Amino acid sequence: MRVVNLASGSKGNVTFFEAGGVKILIDTGLSLKEIKTRLELVGEKLENINAILITHEHSDHIKGFLQVLKCTKARAYAPKTTIYDYFKISDEQLLDRISIISEYPFHIGDILVSPVYVPHDSMECLSFVIEYKNRKVGIATDLGFVPTLLLNKLEGCDLVYIESNHDRNMLMSNMYPRFVKQRIIGDRGHLSNEQAASAIVFLAKKGTKHFVLSHISEHSNTISLAYLASAKALEKEGFVLEKDVFLRYSRQDKPGNNYIFGEDNDD
Ligand SMILES: [Zn+2]
Ligand SMILES: [Zn+2]
Repeated sequence: MRVVNLASGSKGNVTFFEAGGVKILIDTGLSLKEIKTRLELVGEKLENINAILITHEHSDHIKGFLQVLKCTKARAYAPKTTIYDYFKISDEQLLDRISIISEYPFHIGDILVSPVYVPHDSMECLSFVIEYKNRKVGIATDLGFVPTLLLNKLEGCDLVYIESNHDRNMLMSNMYPRFVKQRIIGDRGHLSNEQAASAIVFLAKKGTKHFVLSHISEHSNTISLAYLASAKALEKEGFVLEKDVFLRYSRQDKPGNNYIFGEDNDD
C-alpha cells in the first residue's frame, strides 16, 4: 500500500493511494494540469488512475473532477449531491462511470472503502477509511468536529490524515469577517489545532503511529502552531515523538511524505 498527499489546504486537496494494483485519487481539488504535474512528481501518471473518491462538493476538493474523469478511464465514487446537485451531470455515458456513495462500505478491487458522514457546511461530506490486507489509512478533512462514529472507524489505522485547520486565537484576530470566523469555528466548519490534537491522542492510544496534519489554513494557522498543539498533547500523555508516534504535515504547494505499508515493504 502506498499513500502520498499531493496537495492539502483551502487552495486544493488531492491524495494518491495505491494498493493491489489499483490507483486511486482522493479528491481532485487542483486543475487537471496541476494534478498531472503533482502525480509526475511522485512518479505516477494521470492516465493510470483507476478510481476517484470525492469527499464533498467544495471547489478545493472537486476543481479538476470533470476533466480528470474525462481524461482517464477511472471510475468515480462520489456523494449524490456532488454529482446531481452541484455538477448536475446528466450525460448517461458519464453517469455510467460514477458510483453514488453514502455511509455504506464498498470495494474497489480488493480495497475496502468505508465512508463516514462528517459535519461540514457542504451538502454532504465524507471521511474515508481505506483498507487493504489488514492495513488501514484514514482521511478526515473538512469537519466541524470529530463524530464518535468516525473516531471508532479510525481506530487501528496505520496512518491518519487529519485536518488541523486553524489556531483559534489566530483565526479570531485575523481580517476575516465575523460570519466567516463563525462558520469556520462552528460545528459544520473546520477542526482547530486543539480538536485535531485530542483526536490524535485518542487514536495514538488505540495504536495509530502515523499522523499527517492536513488542510492547515494559510491565514489562521502556521505549520509550527499546528505541529506544537498535537506534539504537546501527545507528550503530555507520555508518547515519545519519532519513537511511539510520527507526526507530519501536508502542504499546499507540494507533495508530502511518501508512505508505504505492508506487502513486500514493511513499515
Ligand atoms: Zn476543504
Ligand atoms: Zn469543505
